[in-house]
Order: sequence, then C-alpha cells, then structure tokens
Amino acid sequence: MSKLSFKLKLFIFSVFAIAVPISLFAGLAISILNPSSSQILSLIGIGLTLTLIFSLLSILLFKKIVNSHFKKLFFLIEKTANFLPQQVKILKGDDDVEQIIRLFSSFKQTIGNYTQKQSDLENFIKFEREKLSCILSNISDPVIGIDNNFKIAFFNKPAAEILGIDPDDSLYQPLSQLFKFFIKNKELDIKQLIPLKSPGFSGVLFTGQDIKTVSLLNNKEAFVDMTVCQLQAGIANNLSSILVFHDSTKEKQLEAMKLDFVSMAAHELRTPLTSIKGYISVFIQENEKKLSEDQMMFIRRINTSAQQLSALVENLLGVARVERGAMTITTQPMDWVQNVQTIKEMFEHRAQEKRLDLEFKKPDVPIPTIQADSVRINEVLNNFVANAINYTEPGGKVTIWIEYKNNEVITHVTDSGRGIPKESLAHLFTKFYRVPGNLDQASKGNGLGLYISKAIVDLHKGRTWADSPGLGKGSTFSFSLPVVDSIISDLSVLTKKL
Ligand code: ADP
Repeated sequence: MSKLSFKLKLFIFSVFAIAVPISLFAGLAISILNPSSSQILSLIGIGLTLTLIFSLLSILLFKKIVNSHFKKLFFLIEKTANFLPQQVKILKGDDDVEQIIRLFSSFKQTIGNYTQKQSDLENFIKFEREKLSCILSNISDPVIGIDNNFKIAFFNKPAAEILGIDPDDSLYQPLSQLFKFFIKNKELDIKQLIPLKSPGFSGVLFTGQDIKTVSLLNNKEAFVDMTVCQLQAGIANNLSSILVFHDSTKEKQLEAMKLDFVSMAAHELRTPLTSIKGYISVFIQENEKKLSEDQMMFIRRINTSAQQLSALVENLLGVARVERGAMTITTQPMDWVQNVQTIKEMFEHRAQEKRLDLEFKKPDVPIPTIQADSVRINEVLNNFVANAINYTEPGGKVTIWIEYKNNEVITHVTDSGRGIPKESLAHLFTKFYRVPGNLDQASKGNGLGLYISKAIVDLHKGRTWADSPGLGKGSTFSFSLPVVDSIISDLSVLTKKL
C-alpha cells in the first residue's frame, strides 16, 4: 500500500468515501419508489453497516496517507521547533492533524511575537539614537568619535566651536591632520592619546588634565581635560574610540591672571623686603649692645617677621614658576653625601637653639654621583630639614639618612616630632595644605614648601613621599633621585679600582 502513489491513494479514498454513500442512497431511493419491496429494512441495515465499515477504513487510510506524506513535514517542524521558544512542543501520542494545527498556530503566535519584538527593538534603537543625538548636540563639552583608522567619525557642535574643527570639512579627516595635543609643552602622538587595546576591550584608554589642543586648521588653542574610551563592539563597528573633552580654557585664563597678579605683587614686595631685612640686620649688629633687652626683643621680632614675609614672597614666586611650567633646572654632577653633610652643618645652630639632636647617618654603601641642580635640590633638602626642626618639640631628634637602591639615591629626613595623621598624608604635597593639628604654627608656615619641593623633585624625575605612624609619633619625609646608568658604571669602575 505504501508504494502506491499519493494520487492513487486519494482516488481509492474518494471512491470509498463518495461512491458507497451514493450507491446506498440510490438503493434506498429505488426501495421507496417501489414500496412493494420487502427488503427495505435489510437494505438500510446493510447500507448502514457498509457505511460504518467504509468510514472506518477511510479514516485509517487517511491516517496512513497523512503519516507517510507528512512525515517529512513533521521532521522539519520538529527541527524548527528546537529553535523556537518553549511554547512549540510536539506531544507524542497526539493526533497528527491536531499536532500540525497546534504547531502551525504556535508558529503563527511565535512569528507574531517576533514581529512585535522586532518592532519594539526598532523603536528602542530609534529612541536611543534620538537620546544620544540630543545629549551630543546639547552638552557644552566637545565629543569626537574616532574610527578604526584614527579618522573623525562624528563630532558635536562644541567640538567645532571650542577645538576649532571645520564643521563642513573635518568629517573622515585623520585626527592627526586636524590637531596637535600637548601635555606640559610636550607633544602627544596619536598612539599615546588613543592607545587602543584588543577588540572587545571596553573602558577608559587615557585620561589627562590641562592638555593643550592646537587646531591645525585655524591655530585655535584650547585647554582641556580629556578622557578617551574604547567601546566593546567599537572596532567591529568601525568606531575605535570616543574622545570626551572638558573645556578648561577659561579656568586656565583665570588661573593665569591670578598667577600674574601674585607674581607681580611678590616681585613688588621683594625689593623693599630685601632692604628691610638688610637694614634690620645692620641695625642689630650695630645696636645690639646699646639697646635694652625689651627693645632688642621687638627688633628681633621685626627681623623674624621680615624673614617670614620674605620666605612667603619667595614661595609665591616659586609657585608661580611651577604653575607656569617656568621652573627649570640645570643639572650637574654632585657628591650627594658631601652636600647633605654641608646642609646638616648649616642647620646645626637652629637645631641647638631648639634643643634638638640633629644627626646625619652616613650611608654604609658608596653612593653614586648624582645629576642635579644643586640650588633647587638643596631647596628641597632645606625645606625637609627646616620642617623637621619646626615641627619637633625641644628635646626631640632629627635624623638625615641616605639609601641607594633600585638605581635611586633616596634621602630621608626622620623626626620624632608631632607626626601626621593618616588622612593628611595624601594631601601634604598639595598647594597651601597644612595639617589641621599643626595650625598653631600658622604664623610660620604657608603650606607651599612641600608643593614646590615636589615640583623640583619631579623635574629631576624623582619621587617625593611622606610617612608617619600617626599624630605625636614623628614622621619621615623622603625624596629619590634617579641615577643614570653611565654614572652607575662609573661607580662600579671606581669601586673596583678602590
Ligand atoms: P609650611 O611648613 O610652610 O606650612 P610645607 O609645605 O613645608 O609648608 O608643609 C606643609 C604642612 O605639612 C605643614 O604645614 C605641616 O602641617 C606639615 N608638615 C611638614 N613637615 C612636617 C613634619 N616634619 N612633621 C609634621 N608635619 C609636617
């Protein structure tokens, strides 16, 4: 039977399903037209039995046909159903036709769901695009998108206005042909600015403050804080990175005006102060013995105040130099141990006055010659030792000691003084910072010495730090100076010779 063609099976089925009821109906009609016929009842009985048998046969045959001819369809549906959500399931033992109906209605529902989801997604994408474009065009900070070839993929209005991008001509131009970027007067190349990581990385690639941008189109200069981000699917979508800027040009100009004012005022104060200091010192020398103790006390106070004012003026000028990037150094080889010994001797008198024990612990190992600007680096050492004496109570101890490790000469100034609370350690080297507990020293300090010291050590490519076990437990201030390789090799030759 299974080998019979589909058409033949349908034909047999049609004969059974149509011919049998017609023949029975015909027999019944003849019997009714000829009422003498006594076989009416038996004819109806036979007709009904035959109809029942043939109907059963028809159903079985139809099922067979469906089974054989819809097998492939089932296979396909079953396979497809695996990819569909759970609502489509083939139930074993269900009627085949019922299964098909259920499957098709599930497909319809699923396709309906997908269509709904697709349109929801399209709406969502549209919404996100609108949101992004609204944010981009209305924020006051410049934003630039960069493609995989470091060309400009998009930019917003502030980018054109603040950074000097040509709104009509800059799209798809290489970033390096539109801008130069400088950090502390050093030009940054594009790979430093956008150090792309492997595709799939997502996060910040670069952050920088006070970056100067110069437009190569119209020489427009701006000062910006800048963040460069890479998106996870960015490279795959030809958007390697996004540059977000914060325009700090106005703040910078204001800062420059403040600096100009401070340094002008400091310069103006410097000359008369130098005269005051000079005359007082001559006056003290000449009149020390003629004046009473009280009169001398007042003169000494005037002298101390003039010295403090002079220190403040020098510090303000130093800060202005640091902030402008005008602090420069001229290095020369220095015998550091000898230099520290000299500074220690200079402070001996001050330490004795305050009844402090000042010690220089000479290193056990040879210390290589360092390259430093002797005037500037001694400003740092002076500041550390002066602070140690200043912030240590009489009877205490100040020790200067040197280490040589990892190609660095490290100088430490340890005192047994008032110490520094943990929360203050991170702020010590910032401008005008003074440890709150030390404010009784306000008349003496201005919180600028450590800031300038750090800037000087930075210029020497060294590091500056402070450590303290806590308030009342003393502290150690340290700075390192790197030793260049040629100097190390000189030293090794020298030690071998010795
Ligand atoms: P100044 O001493 O003029 O205030 P500095 O910048 O030299 O300015 O020091 C900043 C602050 O750091 C000081 O005001 C003081 O609170 C704290 N400090 C510096 N050195 C020491 C030290 N050796 N011990 C305790 N505190 C110190």
